[in-house]
Amino acid sequence: MDTEKINLYNASSTDLSSAMADWGQPAFRARQVYRQLYTRYAGSIEEMTDLPVELRERMIGESTLGTMELVDVRKGDQGLTRKAIWRLPGGETIESVLMIYPDRATVCVSSQAGCPMGCVFCATARLGFLQNLSPGDMVQQVIWAAREIQAMKDQPVAKNTHRVRPGNVPPHLTNVVFMGMGEPFNNYDNWWASVERLHDPDGFNLGARSFTVSTVGLIPGIEKLMEAPLPVNLAISLHTAYDERRSALMPVNRRYPIADLIAASRAYAARTGRRVSFEYCLIAGENDSADEAEALANLLLEERFPCHVNLIPWNPVAGTGLARSTRASVNTFKALLDGRGLPCSIRIQRGVDIDAACGQLAGSYAEKE
Ligand code: SAH
Repeated sequence: MDTEKINLYNASSTDLSSAMADWGQPAFRARQVYRQLYTRYAGSIEEMTDLPVELRERMIGESTLGTMELVDVRKGDQGLTRKAIWRLPGGETIESVLMIYPDRATVCVSSQAGCPMGCVFCATARLGFLQNLSPGDMVQQVIWAAREIQAMKDQPVAKNTHRVRPGNVPPHLTNVVFMGMGEPFNNYDNWWASVERLHDPDGFNLGARSFTVSTVGLIPGIEKLMEAPLPVNLAISLHTAYDERRSALMPVNRRYPIADLIAASRAYAARTGRRVSFEYCLIAGENDSADEAEALANLLLEERFPCHVNLIPWNPVAGTGLARSTRASVNTFKALLDGRGLPCSIRIQRGVDIDAACGQLAGSYAEKE
């Protein structure tokens, strides 16, 4: 791939305007291109047929519509979960997951190829850190999801399911969650640029509250986000209320221990008026006991700031030596939190059959390669 070429998904509308001006094009061409990218979800430059042929040829010569190649789309849950596998110019692969629900459609986006954070229960961590994704790489994943939904509307996917009926696919992508491969706050500026691009009311126009970023708990990122101009949602991967156990599961805890993380979360809630979500994946015998539930409730209720706990039954990752909590222990854990009045829910399971569930991304494909 020619790295000199402009990735159109990396260009802001201002960048496009100056590129078109440089090429001697009238100003409205930039708006046409921007519309092709963000309201028509053009699949190629050739497809932008409202542009003159010579301009398209020049664009093909000097720019690309994304730099990642879509190598496969795997379907699970009767087509309601779709995993895209992308190849970066250097050969690394990353993944994105689209999940269709009756009332919403969510895409789970990767922010890095591999991940440097080393959480012992996560498939992505096993790859180590490979590279940061550009803003355009994150945008490309979201536009793919928007295109998939558009195609599904013509060809309904979900037969024989009580959850989504044919013709009942949500009309648009409604949520973007940065919960795929990588640590978004370890690639903060690129991540934020992708949010700004997708939020742009002149383009993709996704509301700030439709974005959720999940972090392993990098406090500088939390502090930066609380000053950011767009009110996106914040989720923090907590996974246990005990420092020693958290350090064993998540090495980042040695740098940013629980007390500091909770203080930052409280400050975030106070500064923004928004509630903080905590992710808690339940691993058998590690963090799913009654004692752990009590410790979690004590930790979060003591601080008295608006929060919510997302319980995620841990998804199997080969070679970790870990096992998922039984359904009964997940339910007991939730009942204990309910009893204490701590808001919580159990995350709906999606994509296990195609290795697309939380924490399972990129393991299988990378190994096969
Ligand atoms: N690096 C960010 C973004 C990843 S989000 C973060 O850690 O928050 C993915 C979520 O799934 C995180 O909460 C992560 O801890 C969790 N997770 C990782 N492996 C998992 C697994 N095997 N099963 C369930 N959840 C997992």
